[in-house]
Amino acid sequence: MEFREVYCNNCKKVLGRYNIKFYTEDKISDLLKTTHVKHVRNGHQVSIRKFLKN
Ligand SMILES: [Zn+2]
Repeated sequence: MEFREVYCNNCKKVLGRYNIKFYTEDKISDLLKTTHVKHVRNGHQVSIRKFLKN
């Protein structure tokens, strides 16, 4: 299974992993504006990377 992993470089932690089947890139950017907005507002560098899991 393939996931998109939202990672905060400042907090050095994974904020969430989202199955690409259910989460499009648009949905992920929505999450960055809602669920993870605190990091973005604090000027944290949030990156989205691919994560593979069997
Ligand atoms: Zn952060």
